[in-house]
Amino acid sequence: MPELPEVETVCRGLEPVMAGAAFQAVEQRRPDLRWPLPPRFTERLTGRRLLALTRRAKFLVGRIEGGETLVMHLGMSGRFTIAMGQNDPDLVGRFVYDTGAADVHDHIVFHMSNGVRIVYNDPRRFGFMDLIADEALDTHKLFADLGVEPLGNALNAGYLAERARGRSSDLKSFLLDQRIIAGLGNIYVSEALFRAGLSPNRRTKSLASKAGAPTERAERLVPVIRDVLNEAIAAGGSTLRDYKHADGALGYFQHAFRVYGREGEPCMTQGCGQPIRRIVQAGRSTFYCSACQR
Ligand SMILES: [Zn+2]
Repeated sequence: MPELPEVETVCRGLEPVMAGAAFQAVEQRRPDLRWPLPPRFTERLTGRRLLALTRRAKFLVGRIEGGETLVMHLGMSGRFTIAMGQNDPDLVGRFVYDTGAADVHDHIVFHMSNGVRIVYNDPRRFGFMDLIADEALDTHKLFADLGVEPLGNALNAGYLAERARGRSSDLKSFLLDQRIIAGLGNIYVSEALFRAGLSPNRRTKSLASKAGAPTERAERLVPVIRDVLNEAIAAGGSTLRDYKHADGALGYFQHAFRVYGREGEPCMTQGCGQPIRRIVQAGRSTFYCSACQR
């Protein structure tokens, strides 16, 4: 499943070829993805310019000329492929895609006015696309309850303390709560807690003093959350560059994790070497070192 760094990488790959260009034609090859596509989906896009493409949590958010926003989510297996126009090979320069017969899982194709073709492929079809009126975006059910962006300035020790105060839940569940931090997923919570030296079982309220001020633990968490995400995004960026000789597919990359997926392997902290433990919290695996994380 794509996590925030992968969605950010996809956004950075798509933005230069989509923003500023118009949808010259849109091919919709089935009525639904995870949910039905919106009524008159292709008509509402065709002829309109995409003004800007950004990421919010794990959503790709494309503002369209005429007051609507295209919201896209990769689900479990969604990916975009950027196909260069045959006559304009230098337009982007990074992506080469020579497609053969149409893949049965190529569900949506955007033909942009700059000659670029963007193909959405999703074998499991847990992804979705929707068109939402600009003014309804903030109150839309997908966005209304989202917490702060983990890479934005709104995530700081003071914010964590304010939200953590008095909570008896465990730290892992707190950090995974999308109403607190939007888009932070299971893998990166495990990695951030390891780097901060904090146990996933620790009580959330220990991020705040009795008076509500951030504790040193809250101060420690903020930079490591940013670090684990930024390092993965940087790795994704290098994957993107490597793709110029491949097929231009955007969506997934391998990344080296320090605890995630390493159950039973020795802890990487110098002088530790304790086996990494795996526990299940709220149905999700947590990996941690019981010696380094307190
Ligand atoms: Zn350790």
